[in-house]
Amino acid sequence: MQDPVQPDAPGDVIPILGASYPAADIEAWDRTYVWHPFTQMQDYTGRDPVVIVEGDGVRVRDTRGRWYYDGVASVWLNVHGHRVPALDAAIREQLTRIAHSTLLGQGNAVTAVLAHHLAGITPPGLTRFFFSDSGAAAVEVALKMAVQYWANQGQGQRTRILGFTSNYHGDTLGAMAVAPDETFHWPFLSYLPPEPRVPYPHCYRCPLGRSRPGCGLACLGPVEEALAQEGDRLAAVIIEPVQGAGGIIPAPPGYLAGLRELCDRYGVLLIVDEVATGFGRTGRLWGVDHDGVVPDILCLGKGITGGYLPLSATVAGERIYAAFLGEVGAKRALYHGHSYAGNALAAAAALASLRLLTAPGFLEGVAAKAETLGGALEPLRGLPYVGDVRQLGLMAGIELVQDRVSRRGFPYGLQAGWVVADRARARGLLIRPIGNVVIFMPPLASTPAELGEMTAILTGAVAEAQEALAALAGRG
Ligand SMILES: *Cc1c(COP(=O)(O)O)cnc(C)c1O
Repeated sequence: MQDPVQPDAPGDVIPILGASYPAADIEAWDRTYVWHPFTQMQDYTGRDPVVIVEGDGVRVRDTRGRWYYDGVASVWLNVHGHRVPALDAAIREQLTRIAHSTLLGQGNAVTAVLAHHLAGITPPGLTRFFFSDSGAAAVEVALKMAVQYWANQGQGQRTRILGFTSNYHGDTLGAMAVAPDETFHWPFLSYLPPEPRVPYPHCYRCPLGRSRPGCGLACLGPVEEALAQEGDRLAAVIIEPVQGAGGIIPAPPGYLAGLRELCDRYGVLLIVDEVATGFGRTGRLWGVDHDGVVPDILCLGKGITGGYLPLSATVAGERIYAAFLGEVGAKRALYHGHSYAGNALAAAAALASLRLLTAPGFLEGVAAKAETLGGALEPLRGLPYVGDVRQLGLMAGIELVQDRVSRRGFPYGLQAGWVVADRARARGLLIRPIGNVVIFMPPLASTPAELGEMTAILTGAVAEAQEALAALAGRG
């Protein structure tokens, strides 16, 4: 194994499609022409660039020849690593037939096979797959599905969606409307339809000032109040089993079951966004499995293709599906579609990824690795600028605070999370924080040894960052 921070070929020339490009040119073009998502470009262009050329297992190599561990699974997508022989072969095999054909009014063999296999593993009764190409699109479809489900039954007044504070469902308009954020969406807040929201069950910052287990999940109370108040204007409730972008916040055990019961009692649909938590990320196949809950509509994305190609799905049960049936002239169909929906190459990758994911022992292995990870992160709780350490499966968040007693966070502009991430990067681990939360989401297939090395770098970086965080703590 190469030393992660040593260039193995300095001054590299990089071959791409038969041509050779100097690494320095590629880095310059990245800075000049590529406008990066969720990135302040003025800050980015002043940084040491990381431009990835290739991957191998759970590591990636950049234009400088530096190898890094992919510590956030290429932002929460990667399951089995990079250049996985079975996935590579599946895509090559599909390429010998067809790369893409539309799903609008016609089928595609590999996508049908994928849907058949998915139907065997999704929570019971969720058998109708509406494919799209991103998590945000899967959420848009879920919202439209919920609203039209009611409209098709003469309840056109049910247009509102109840969401939770600090949620994240993607960056399209509908997804933003149910998860407005003052930092990221401020120019659009007046443009978005106002949707009701209730506090997410965030135990470290309990909205009711209570603590577990004595609280008896009192946080379900405000949900019930909102359901009662919204009444028949409400189409659905949308929730993440573990808030990802909100800062890795797992809903406490029993909460989703309580929410399911409330949705049934008040007759509204439950949409569960498992774009981040699905496909084994939490140590179970689905985040809802921890509570034995079956949603009415399930959103899948990210890990669905093992992190290879864009694909997502909105999954519904028969009751929802049946409400869309009727004569063509009755206009009850779901008039929504994306050009690349259910792409054949992506479906082939997804099928191959599912085979590995559902192989005997794989998920048990993830659960075992998660337990080891939990033990390794535990000592961080003693550090002066670590407020909380949260984890479910191989999704972990370390929340940095400037004061452990008041639990006050660092102001956004100080980029406290990057104080840790930059140190991890220098030691050969790529991670990407969100605000004050240092996020660690390695590929599920990382071996125990690889996880051990990644965790050692991560915890070392958090410890090493304490002094710099102390300097920041006075400043906001
Ligand atoms: C990433 C994410 C999305 C959006 O998925 P994209 O593929 O980035 O559009 C939606 N919901 C959750 C919970 C996510 O983590």
